[in-house]
Amino acid sequence: MTARVIPVDPFDLVVFGATGDLARRKLIPALYHRLADGQMPDGARIIGTARSALDAEGFRALASEALEAFVPAEALDADIRGRFLNCLDYLQLDVSTPEGWEDLRGMLSTDGRPCAYYLSVAPRFFGMIAEGIGRAGLVEPNTRIVVEKPLGRDLASARALNAQLAEGFDESQIYRIDHYLGKETVQNLMALRFANALFEPLWNARHIDHVQITVAESVGIEGRGPYYDHVGAMRDMVQNHLLQLLCLTAMEPPARFEPDAVRDEKLKVLRALEPIDDPADVVRGQYRANGTAKSYREEAENPDSTTESFVALRARVSNWRWSGVPFYLRTGKRLRNRVSEIAIRFRDVPHSIFPGVAPLPNMLAIRLQPDEGITLSMTVKDPGPGGMRLTDTTLDMSFAERLATTGMRMPDAYERLVMDVIRGDQTLFMRGDEVETAWGWIDPIIAAWQSAPPPRPYDPGSSGPEDALMLLHRDGRRWREIEA
Ligand code: NAD
Repeated sequence: MTARVIPVDPFDLVVFGATGDLARRKLIPALYHRLADGQMPDGARIIGTARSALDAEGFRALASEALEAFVPAEALDADIRGRFLNCLDYLQLDVSTPEGWEDLRGMLSTDGRPCAYYLSVAPRFFGMIAEGIGRAGLVEPNTRIVVEKPLGRDLASARALNAQLAEGFDESQIYRIDHYLGKETVQNLMALRFANALFEPLWNARHIDHVQITVAESVGIEGRGPYYDHVGAMRDMVQNHLLQLLCLTAMEPPARFEPDAVRDEKLKVLRALEPIDDPADVVRGQYRANGTAKSYREEAENPDSTTESFVALRARVSNWRWSGVPFYLRTGKRLRNRVSEIAIRFRDVPHSIFPGVAPLPNMLAIRLQPDEGITLSMTVKDPGPGGMRLTDTTLDMSFAERLATTGMRMPDAYERLVMDVIRGDQTLFMRGDEVETAWGWIDPIIAAWQSAPPPRPYDPGSSGPEDALMLLHRDGRRWREIEA
């Protein structure tokens, strides 16, 4: 059984950096799946460009290898693969030179179809490409440009990038990807909140004690060492993914599920974030060596590095709905398990009628990975005789199970997002002012680290430094276990 698909019109998609890691691991497989599911129309074209001296055949061979490597064997079909490879073309183009742009223009369709430029290249090329596209006269009303993190490394550079993009493109043509927003569960958070009468009346400071947002990785920085060492967990994860999840959790109901209605509400949340003045509200960590596991500094090849591989912080959203409700955020590498989730901890019952037993608090956990799904922990009577004993149980909405029974596949976030670009739907993309406001909140936190002690060490395979546990303990709370 395949998911219901809404076909899109024929399009041209130009992928800059088409031989790179992101293109091979994510974009090419995502597009293959959309074709396999019947969403890519006949005549759709994917034009890869990169510096490598390839021709169309060479690029098809590279794409074919990417499919072998990143599409599950059971989803690879010879006929579909052939049709997919037929959509591909290639142009060798060094974007740092003025040559080649006219050739690109010559390869594009002339029937007025949507054309999207996906910048799967290092950010230093974003400005050059935006300018090159403009210079070659390739910006039409239904042209789109897609960029992905890192979108700056502070407010000033994010503003500069936005200004560069704005020179050639209208904001309505700019698609800033945060792939977390394309995850099924994240979209489900909006469905859960705004398509059910049950939760929204409880979604406020009267009923919610606190929120925990965790993005834990078990891997280290291997392979990305020197790059990551210039960035750190705060810029790499908190500024974008964790703050976006916070926004979707905390935002007011938009009047419509439309791009600017949703993004206006997210922006209001970012603007309502209290500046963090108390250094004790932020914990930085860096993993140390343990047995055979290398330390962060060894992997980063920087023996004196003070870059954080872990951050935990307490954020506050200053508005009526969330007054007094802390949002605890944490993310890190080399932690016990790979887990991403948003956990909403409801308040205790005001009074227990059961002598000697306190009902356990309700916890709604929205799990992004692994096993996307939503669980709600409830207190129930322990079955059997023996008096009124209470226990907790979970209402479990595991998408994997549901999909297994329907024979459907969980689509990757990029599938949804690339097709949204083609359709011209910006709802799940960040607007420029969101990105800037998020940096505006992050910058002073990072600046304060200049005069702060170095990150706290933590053991690989742990749940982070002790101080991160203390962040909640001093509020009389505790983190959820990082359990896969
Ligand atoms: P990569 O180094 O694997 O690939 C870069 C691509 O850019 C290659 O195709 C290369 O040929 C091309 N390129 C380099 N110089 C060029 C030039 N002068 N002219 C034309 N093409 C040139 O990088 P990647 O991992 O694919 O990442 C691409 C971008 O996506 C980066 O900004 C990265 O931060 C971002 N990103 C990557 C991932 C990922 O999973 N890899 C995830 C999120 C964001």
